[in-house]
Amino acid sequence: MVLNNIFIRVTDITDYYFCPRKVYLKRVMHYEEESTEQKIFGSIVHSIFDRINDKEKDIIYSIKENKGYEYILNLYNQFTYKLIEDILLEFDEEIQKLKLDKNKIKIKSYNYVSKDIEERAKNVYNFILESDLYGIELWENLEPKLVTEIDVTSLKNNIIGRVDRIEIYKDEMIPYEIKSGFYRREHVTQLYAYYLLLKDEYPKYKINKGYLLYAKDNYKKEIEFTNKKEIENILYTKDKIYNMIEEKKDPGKVYKDACKKCLFYNICWK
Ligand code: SF4
Repeated sequence: MVLNNIFIRVTDITDYYFCPRKVYLKRVMHYEEESTEQKIFGSIVHSIFDRINDKEKDIIYSIKENKGYEYILNLYNQFTYKLIEDILLEFDEEIQKLKLDKNKIKIKSYNYVSKDIEERAKNVYNFILESDLYGIELWENLEPKLVTEIDVTSLKNNIIGRVDRIEIYKDEMIPYEIKSGFYRREHVTQLYAYYLLLKDEYPKYKINKGYLLYAKDNYKKEIEFTNKKEIENILYTKDKIYNMIEEKKDPGKVYKDACKKCLFYNICWK
């Protein structure tokens, strides 16, 4: 089924499993789940990751000998501090308009991206130990390359999403969905949806498995993409959401325990 220009987000699909009305309120009624401050913070963090993905090769080009992990981490950190300064300047107008504390955002941004920076530095250090390569050669041969917060689109299915992390090998990709809480069934669906998107956007890569990474416990759950039913359910749900958006049809509210934790509780029940 070819859809017009309505793109369904992966988060719409997982939200729909949680409650169809939640998707209706967001996509048809345009209610926001996030405050403006959260949104700006999200955009800042995304810009930081975008720039790191883009410029990481410059950091790696500058590594000319093995001076140890701390040295590499320090290169990443210096780059990131400067990057955060530059990006906060770009967001200066919004920050001032909302009277936000720039220093707090700076610290919060660094804390948010620091784990990713450590992972990248570790990845490079381990690869140097294995390969003894440096500079351009190191970058060209580095496996895996790590990229973070990547926007992916399936034009075939009209679905968009943002993958938390992808490990890129020469002919293989491994997507990661990183969670701060505990395992829930819909996390598997989310990872499958990213698999679907990546398969469409990067057809030359083998994508056989992905990981749910639970950051608090540093626990990794491997998911093999072998369940065709999961894909069918995602596409079926995507079509239902599409129809709901196009027809602007309220699916109605049904009280359940989850309502108490839902950010739209006041809209639905007060
Ligand atoms: S409050 Fe309940 S019915 Fe309303 S959107 Fe949230 S989960 Fe759905």
